[in-house]
Amino acid sequence: MTKDHIAEVKSLEALIGGSFPTNLSKLSSSSRTIPTNRDFHSLYKSDEFKRPIDEIARTSQCVLETIGGKKSMTFPGDDDAHEWLGKVNDEILEKFDDSIDEFKRNRKMEEDSKKAIDVKVAESDKRFEKHGKAKAPFHLPTITKPQEEYKILVDNANKPFDHVLLEKSEDGLRFIHPLEKLSVMDFVDKNLSEIIPVKPLPLEETPFKLVEEVKDLEDLAATLQSVEEFAVDLEHNQYRSFQGLTCLMQISTRTEDYIVDTFKLWDHIGPHLRELFKDPKKKKVMHGADHDIIWLQRDFGIYVCNLFDTGQASRVLKLERKSLEFLLKHYCGVAADKQYQNADWRIRPLPDVMTRYAREDTHYLLYIYDVMRIDLHTMAKEDEQSDSPLVEAYKGSYDVCMQLYEKELLTADSYLHTYGVRSGNLNAVQLSIVAGLCEWRDRIARADDESTGYVLANKTLFDIAKDMPITTAQLRRLLKSKHPYIERNFDAVISVIRRSMQNAAAFEPVVQSLKDWRPETVVEKNIEPKIEKTGTEASSSSLSLKKFSVDDSKKQSSSGFGNLPSKRKFESDKKVKEEVKVSKSKPNEVIIVVDDDDDDDDESYEQRAETADALNRVSETTSKGSLSMTQKPKICNKEIIVLDDDDESENDSESREEEEMRRRSEKHRRFMNMKRGFLNI
Ligand code: AMP
Ligand code: ZN
Ligand code: MN
Repeated sequence: MTKDHIAEVKSLEALIGGSFPTNLSKLSSSSRTIPTNRDFHSLYKSDEFKRPIDEIARTSQCVLETIGGKKSMTFPGDDDAHEWLGKVNDEILEKFDDSIDEFKRNRKMEEDSKKAIDVKVAESDKRFEKHGKAKAPFHLPTITKPQEEYKILVDNANKPFDHVLLEKSEDGLRFIHPLEKLSVMDFVDKNLSEIIPVKPLPLEETPFKLVEEVKDLEDLAATLQSVEEFAVDLEHNQYRSFQGLTCLMQISTRTEDYIVDTFKLWDHIGPHLRELFKDPKKKKVMHGADHDIIWLQRDFGIYVCNLFDTGQASRVLKLERKSLEFLLKHYCGVAADKQYQNADWRIRPLPDVMTRYAREDTHYLLYIYDVMRIDLHTMAKEDEQSDSPLVEAYKGSYDVCMQLYEKELLTADSYLHTYGVRSGNLNAVQLSIVAGLCEWRDRIARADDESTGYVLANKTLFDIAKDMPITTAQLRRLLKSKHPYIERNFDAVISVIRRSMQNAAAFEPVVQSLKDWRPETVVEKNIEPKIEKTGTEASSSSLSLKKFSVDDSKKQSSSGFGNLPSKRKFESDKKVKEEVKVSKSKPNEVIIVVDDDDDDDDESYEQRAETADALNRVSETTSKGSLSMTQKPKICNKEIIVLDDDDESENDSESREEEEMRRRSEKHRRFMNMKRGFLNI
């Protein structure tokens, strides 16, 4: 070996140590010193040269396998070595290029989804700016439905929810919650004087794990197994599914925060976490858990025992406000940004701002629980006979857990529960249309796993009922914003309206009872419209609800979603010519003259009606206008539910929140009423 060659060997040896990027740059800078071709081959016979070269080959191969997966490129160790090195080099550069491309793609996707949120937030900012507060959009229409993406199966059939994991009572009439076998007193803390509130570390200093893999879920379950208490909260979406969908589960221990991606782990959550939630020795701390409790049952078969609900504690402590926002300020001095409360939590990947918000919902709860228990313990009893405040808070929490999820069912008087019906002062025709449209949207919502509000927003439903369009052209004119479902089903909607108008007489008694309105009377007396059968069309009434039952398990495609049942058009296949006559003196009496002539198509009928409209030559008896003039319905927009309106809604955030709260409490009241009846209490 020459002196020169010894120097080359030294420089090659130096290349082996250090990190790959360092090696790579060293390699490229010293590439001119690496012998080529014949020189390389003669040198390779010498051990001193072979050793570092082989080492480089091994490192390169390792790197290659790491970058490019399993594709093996073994060092040939003979005359092909030089060519091999070139190939390795090419391969690395190619993989590097691919990785850069992939990185760029991911980066772009991330930026796009951030942009989409920013745009939406900006839009909603504008919408809400007159009220001085911004809101994250509650609906991002571009999101692929998680039910489809993650193959989440739901049963929307018009049948009661089956709590398959619960035992039934002896008479088989009710489910037994595991809590029934336990006493509230088991959960009440015994040695309260020993409690020293433990303040959590700031969010930034707290370990955080996004749980997306089964392995991570197992680790989380193991962690929860080892602690005495943990805090829980859920984020939920009710706009793009029929029954609602849990989007995230946040869990905090004393030292860590977790967010479980419930979509990714849907079928695994119950099996891994069910026992922990049921364990009476493990305290679960939640805030205002009424909804969370039933979402856990519905989506994961999780039944909670041993809950401390900080919302219940706020009530017992008579705090001026009961929101988590208030508790965070009051106990932790944290100003929570609640603009994401009603955001579209289906978004993935979860933006940083929303991750932070979701963590905040559980991060401080165990500390608040500590302080509240002390406050409850030191608070005086109401009177001698009553429970201690601490016991009262635990009793309230117990009752929250005891609620059982019930699926919303379509019944003959479901439409009476639509917000605005009772106060809307509708006449029989309008009420009949409301009932018909409610049934129509319920059927579609179940089959497509959408909320009824997404299929047809309440406000639009009332606008239609009020206006009574009888041609698609009239209906089109009535709609101000985009309504994907109506647009796809113009004929069906018109058909529902016409049929409902024919059956209006059956709604006279309902109108009467709504006039001397007491909310319960209508439902309790079980007033149902009597449907007069006046000919073939009328007999296939959209209101023969008693006979109608939806069994979507049969209708749904094998994947369970997406495909419309072939007969989605709601009996609109048959084209009929109809003339609607409304008498001025008796506006509630509607006569529809049905002409079953198949030769004439709808279009010509519509055109005739439109031309007549345009020329203002519509006879008084055939104009829908004559009804709306004499019998102007008093539907107040403010009173109509806003939450399940689409995002084109003009309504402000304040009324949306109010309406949702009202709707929630109305639902809750109905639910509690049902429960009482159910439990015989
Ligand atoms: P929270 O318990 O505050 O974390 O809320 C849980 C879920 O309830 C949210 O993800 C929303 O889907 C829903 N929610 C909470 N507050 C509202 C509200 N004001 N309006 C509509 N939905 C809400
Ligand atoms: Zn919650
Ligand atoms: Mn929350």
